[in-house]
Amino acid sequence: MRPLLERLRARIAATGPISLADYMALALGDPAAGYYRTRDPLGRSGDFTTAPEISQMFGELIGLWLADRLARHEGARPRLVELGPGRGTLMADALRAAGPLQTLPLSLVETSRPLRAAQASRLPQAVWHETLEAVPDEPLLLVANEFLDALPVRQYLADDRGWREVQVGLAGAGLGFGLSGRIPRAGLQPAPGDWAEESPAAEGIVASLAARIAHRGGAALIIDYGYREADRPAGPTLQAIKDHARADPLAAPGEADLTWLIDFDRLAAVARDAVDEPHAIAVHVTTQGAFLAQLGIGLRAAALARARPEEAGAIADALERLTSETAMGTRFKVMAITPAGPPPPGFVEEPKPEDDTP
Ligand code: SAH
Repeated sequence: MRPLLERLRARIAATGPISLADYMALALGDPAAGYYRTRDPLGRSGDFTTAPEISQMFGELIGLWLADRLARHEGARPRLVELGPGRGTLMADALRAAGPLQTLPLSLVETSRPLRAAQASRLPQAVWHETLEAVPDEPLLLVANEFLDALPVRQYLADDRGWREVQVGLAGAGLGFGLSGRIPRAGLQPAPGDWAEESPAAEGIVASLAARIAHRGGAALIIDYGYREADRPAGPTLQAIKDHARADPLAAPGEADLTWLIDFDRLAAVARDAVDEPHAIAVHVTTQGAFLAQLGIGLRAAALARARPEEAGAIADALERLTSETAMGTRFKVMAITPAGPPPPGFVEEPKPEDDTP
């Protein structure tokens, strides 16, 4: 088969520029050449490193979080589900740390053949699905780390006369960004320089999870690089990553990871809007650092360092990377969708210091 760049150019030459989202769907998901079909992108030899690959503590604490939800669950036995499990590291660590999860059926949603093989070696009991829709409609205990940001995103830019959508067209011997004609979008008239990113795929998954949890119970934990209203970036967030560095998103489709930053307030609103009875579910968002600290990662790190003194330095480094404000602690956010009830562990509002003063 011809290289993906050539196929994309032929398609655009025949039918015109395509949306950024359509470009991403092919660059990441083309069955023969898509980035997430053909390789293991993780770790030092790959293009990027994720929290579960940094330390076992990450998956262990998520395992305990899920086990707490299982203990509170009423009704039919839930199914344990992970979206985009990578090498299976998070789930293997979770199952080792939280025995009660080991009795549940395990479903993995994964499109990559090489990564399915890596997952199978660590999680032989799993069954695999191409999409969330194919996972049986049972109560779910679900985790998705750095999954939503791998799904296609649409990008919009405004000038003084309205919105245009970012497109990919031909440029010289390669591809270049362009803009569609003006298009209507819901909401207020934009100001010049306004930008928006929307992922129908990511929002569809969150809406589906919210509806399943409202009907059947269970819980979902979604962790990703992203922002809230208070730290919204100044401009669009799409970027390409190759060999642990920024790359040109259009230079070599299928060869670089393409990601964007999740708008967590928007996703939380999507989850709430997806259920008919708004009080059937609770949606919480916090930072990865606050979440892990509240679940006791400091204690876990100290216990691990006592058990393996020769690794104490590496354990301290991992703790710092996962939780500090200058590393993943605030840039990564965690969203929980649960049935209505008190906030789950990791999301409990801590009293502000001034509340202590008499
Ligand atoms: N959660 C893992 C891996 C994150 S990378 C970790 O934290 O290490 C993104 C994962 O999602 C990979 O496993 C990738 O193959 C998978 N993936 C990407 N797009 C997908 C899609 N459209 N459907 C299913 N899985 C997908």
